[in-house]
Amino acid sequence: MKCCKKHCLTIFGRSYKHEKIFWTAFEKFICTQYNLENYSDNNRCRSCYFVKVEIAKMGKKNSNIVCKFGGTSCANAQNILKVEEIISSNKNRKFIVVSAPGKRSTTDIKITDMLYTCHNALMTTGNCDAIFGQIAERFLAIAHDLQIGNIQLILEETRQDIYRHKSLDFTASRGEYLNAICIAKRLNLPFIDAKDIIFFNEQNTLDENRTYTAIATKLKGLQGAIIPGFYGTDVKGNIKTFSRGGSDISGAILARGVNASIYENWTDVDAFLVCDPNIVENPQKISKLSFQELRELSYMGANVLHADCIFPLIDTNIVINIRNTFNPNCSGTDIVQVKDTQKTENVITGIAGKKDFTILHIEKAMMNTEVGFVHKVLSLIKEENISFEHMPSGIDMISLVIESKLLQGERKVRLLEKIEREVRPDCLKVIENIALIAIVGHGMQGTIGSASRVLQAISKANINIRIIDKSSGELNIIVGVNNADYAKSIQALYAEFFD
Ligand code: ASP
Repeated sequence: MKCCKKHCLTIFGRSYKHEKIFWTAFEKFICTQYNLENYSDNNRCRSCYFVKVEIAKMGKKNSNIVCKFGGTSCANAQNILKVEEIISSNKNRKFIVVSAPGKRSTTDIKITDMLYTCHNALMTTGNCDAIFGQIAERFLAIAHDLQIGNIQLILEETRQDIYRHKSLDFTASRGEYLNAICIAKRLNLPFIDAKDIIFFNEQNTLDENRTYTAIATKLKGLQGAIIPGFYGTDVKGNIKTFSRGGSDISGAILARGVNASIYENWTDVDAFLVCDPNIVENPQKISKLSFQELRELSYMGANVLHADCIFPLIDTNIVINIRNTFNPNCSGTDIVQVKDTQKTENVITGIAGKKDFTILHIEKAMMNTEVGFVHKVLSLIKEENISFEHMPSGIDMISLVIESKLLQGERKVRLLEKIEREVRPDCLKVIENIALIAIVGHGMQGTIGSASRVLQAISKANINIRIIDKSSGELNIIVGVNNADYAKSIQALYAEFFD
């Protein structure tokens, strides 16, 4: 074994003239790579051999994979057996987060939706036995087919708990809870209840300290565990769920908590697609996405992954790997913190969109000289607890783009009256049935002509653009078209950038 100092000083692809600087860089590298607070002097190995051994050891220590299996992957016993195969094919797949059973066919109903109905029945009629009976039947069938023995007692306890708690979040969370118990029995792994490891604070956001301490304590020494997604415990000790699709967030929290080497998110598609396959036949797959691109695309309707699931992973090197339970050999999509824009092949990474927005268009002569005009309008919107998506403007006009579902009935009438009364516009128009389309990609940064291509593609398809919004960040361009032109616009954009 020979120490080769020269090699040591260039071990990370960069050469360092001074040994001291090299070691500082080395410590920083190790800390970021393996999520360590610090990497002490004692761990220093003054030879390239030991450096490699240390890195290999750390790599091993952090080879845990966190997997999250979505609703379709857990929809019935047949699918759960595929989940079992995937888990047992790689011993590093240790910490498994599961959703509630989803749809078995396009016409089926997700267990979580049935649980929302169950809560509704309980609150309106005082009885939810009929719908709970249907939910129980699905779990009984799963338990029977997985040959995990009798789960009648757990189901009965759950039914009673639902009556006792009378809480929407508690009831909604029982799909994940029961499914995780069944899968844990099948895989012979410990069931760790999310209520004991995921905690919310007063603001109902993640209590990071409490959560990560609990994860470290509860999972310490375990060679694996099954954890229900979607929920945790609030400050009062009650069950609280994330928003819909929130098991993705639970998986990300777990991945951070155990310092996973990778967060595999197993779903029912091969990869994140460039756009909705219901609009463009067989669109290209995206092999790599950045966290920012994911957020933009998910927020605008690409529903492979929850838009908020990147937050626990920011400042880590954990990659999210989207995989298909029904085609496990496909490598899927990697979602990484930062994408090397030099290596970005396409100008655009993806296109997503949503229908049903409303534009509130306000005109007033000399608006530009009236200090606080926009502030006044926005305060009125805030008073009605409405959030807006975009606000393109001109000298004497602003347009506020708002989700139509937030601007309905009395609330809408009240807001319009308030705007008329308090800002006295010359013109106040409500334009409904607007679709927003986000054209997203780091490749647009500094690429001259990308916006022009977007606009030309849509205009060549003979479609009228109602609004355009583009920030200086150059990550996305938002265009608004009539709902009726939505699909045609996406087809035109796909043809321009990908065909
Ligand atoms: N089961 C929940 C839902 O349907 C959470 C999840 O699957 O992520 O939204």
